[in-house]
Amino acid sequence: MLVKRIFVEHQVATHPQTGRILRALDKAPVVYIDKVEDVFERARKPYLQKRGDLNLFIGRKEGQLVKPAPDAYGLSGDPHYYFIHAYNCIYECEYCYLQGYFKSPDLVLYVNHDEIAAEIRETVRRHADRPSVWFHAGEFSDTLALSHITDEWGTYWELFATLPNARLELRTKSVNLKAIIDRPPLENIIVTFSLSPAAQAKRYDRKTPSLEARLRAIAKLADRGFRLGIHFDPIIYEDGFEAQYRALVQEVLQAVPDAQIEYISLGVVRFTRDVYQEFVRNYPGSGLLAGEFVKSFDNKIRYNRPQRLYMLNTVQQLCRDAGIGAEKIYLCMENETV
Ligand code: SF4
Repeated sequence: MLVKRIFVEHQVATHPQTGRILRALDKAPVVYIDKVEDVFERARKPYLQKRGDLNLFIGRKEGQLVKPAPDAYGLSGDPHYYFIHAYNCIYECEYCYLQGYFKSPDLVLYVNHDEIAAEIRETVRRHADRPSVWFHAGEFSDTLALSHITDEWGTYWELFATLPNARLELRTKSVNLKAIIDRPPLENIIVTFSLSPAAQAKRYDRKTPSLEARLRAIAKLADRGFRLGIHFDPIIYEDGFEAQYRALVQEVLQAVPDAQIEYISLGVVRFTRDVYQEFVRNYPGSGLLAGEFVKSFDNKIRYNRPQRLYMLNTVQQLCRDAGIGAEKIYLCMENETV
């Protein structure tokens, strides 16, 4: 990873995680600042500058550290929350929502995990009567891509080992398992991988590990006894869509036994208006633009409703035909009638 400059908040300058990151990226000049917000996003920086002009910020996350997750975020019936360990991503998926979300592609890494952990513990305490409370990481950045440098997940391993009714999802497209592979697998920590058919992953998931590599990583974690989840998201329509997903479901089941799959989520490609405009600007030749998109029930830009229904039903049926229980499958960020 080529980082041009590293900005470090004074208040975390002596934090051990800051030290680890600076040692790993010791070629980049370091500038000390008061607040990440004083520099990050202060001027609009084109998204594609991430390819050669990337800055990195290290800071303390402030404000509400654990937030309720949007509806239809995970398996229904349980409370769902998310927390932020970082902003932005080293990968470059063409459909990525980050390209219209922040005014800058620069990476921000937060190091105050003890404070996030305390807020998770307090949230779990408020739900002591519930069998499961979910916490999702990876809403604004991949959870494993830089974890060999940041090494934050140990804090969460210790925390969740003591919170049997809490569940943690680490969402990723990375195969960088170094920071987690030797940790004891916990029933309540679920590593989830976003997968697309190989040809689509190659075309649209720029700079990410191939489908084959992700499946190998899944198999490795499964062998070690980890609980795993799969996101077929975003599902993109193209000729041969059904055959591609039939093959993909089989490949997943070869990598991980059904019993170790916690859930499978299905989501059709979607964009907010801002993200769509950025996507068209950044990738004018993208094959994704061949799709016919409309504004849908929540103002997001999607395929029309019959097409979404067809796509979701098809992939759902393929999963069920392969023996995956209906209770493990949920539709991500869709209303009930799609
Ligand atoms: S891995 Fe996720 S966060 Fe990273 S570029 Fe792809 S879609 Fe965006």
